[in-house]
Amino acid sequence: MKLLVTGGAGFIGSAVVRQAVGAGHQVINLDALTYAACLENVESVSDAAEYTFVKADIRDRTALDAVFDINQPDAVMHLAAESHVDRSIDGPGDFIETNITGTFNMLEAARKYWLTAGKPDTFRFHHISTDEVFGSLPNDPSVMFTEKTSYDPRSPYSASKAASDHLVRAWHETYGLPVVMTNCSNNYGPFHFPEKLVPVAILNALAGKPLPIYGKGDNIRDWLYVEDHADALLCVLQKGAVGRSYNIGGENELTNLELVQKLCAILDDLRPRRKGPYADLITFVSDRPGHDARYAIDPMRVRNELEWRPSVTVDEGLRKTVEWYLANEAWWKPLQTRQGVGTRLGGDTDK
Ligand code: NAD
Repeated sequence: MKLLVTGGAGFIGSAVVRQAVGAGHQVINLDALTYAACLENVESVSDAAEYTFVKADIRDRTALDAVFDINQPDAVMHLAAESHVDRSIDGPGDFIETNITGTFNMLEAARKYWLTAGKPDTFRFHHISTDEVFGSLPNDPSVMFTEKTSYDPRSPYSASKAASDHLVRAWHETYGLPVVMTNCSNNYGPFHFPEKLVPVAILNALAGKPLPIYGKGDNIRDWLYVEDHADALLCVLQKGAVGRSYNIGGENELTNLELVQKLCAILDDLRPRRKGPYADLITFVSDRPGHDARYAIDPMRVRNELEWRPSVTVDEGLRKTVEWYLANEAWWKPLQTRQGVGTRLGGDTDK
């Protein structure tokens, strides 16, 4: 297949690009290269004949029309977004423009192309979204997000993603555009930008700095290894039913405190600290406004209908992740000084 992947220089998009090229697909990686992008993420495939990079902004409709026209993709995997919740609180404007207007532009460019190509049934527009659109769950293991859960976004980020989800559904119902949608839980793994919780915790620990945790650290998240997410996305693209949405999760609920404690224990094992256990560095900071208490994914649809399951447990995935950061200082060190990174007191303790 010829795939147009947006946001392919970001954390999850780059995992999709690496896997898709590895599986023999042709990939056009469209990315505006914002502060969150890193072309090194796709260096391992950038010389492959199947790979093309296009620097373009999804807010620029004319540029999108040209990309569709020139490349004639069989499918779109739309990941480009502003993705950092704390930044959405400080400055929501970019989130509205990229996540909502940008998705609208992608849908319109895709629809025009799909119509011009004679409405092929095989074309797919895969919209990649988050479980945060569903809001906050009570701390009760019997309640989880399903594909039927009502939308209840509570941050500018999740509200902008919820709006984009609604647009995608509307373009399917109104215009018949063949879409599939996914909503996924928190990802972690290699190439995670060093402003997000897992890398912040690992890198602060290595530097002997405090490990900031919002509130009491009792917010619960469901964690999924990024390579498993990319695998699930390619599975949904190829096997998912048109017009259907799929929740993807790791079946690994942890409080933020438990997550950071696990990272500390792995570091204690791999790179022991002379001054005592890394967990001594854990510091609680004032909570984020509107901080959702719990996210948990019921993965039964993707498991039963598409027979997809994650390949690693959270303990395996976190260990691989810590090993990767220990081995790849040349990747993360320069990123720590990028625009605004590390300037917040608490870092981000969710995604
Ligand atoms: P990221 O911030 O690491 O990467 C986003 C990429 O999009 C960057 O390469 C950036 O340059 C690009 N981009 C941003 N604005 C753009 C624009 N206007 N035009 C073109 N490109 C632009 O994000 P991520 O964590 O990889 O998330 C990717 C997608 O997955 C997002 O849609 C996000 O909502 C969704 N998601 C993320 C998580 C998570 O845990 N990170 C979980 C579920 C869903």
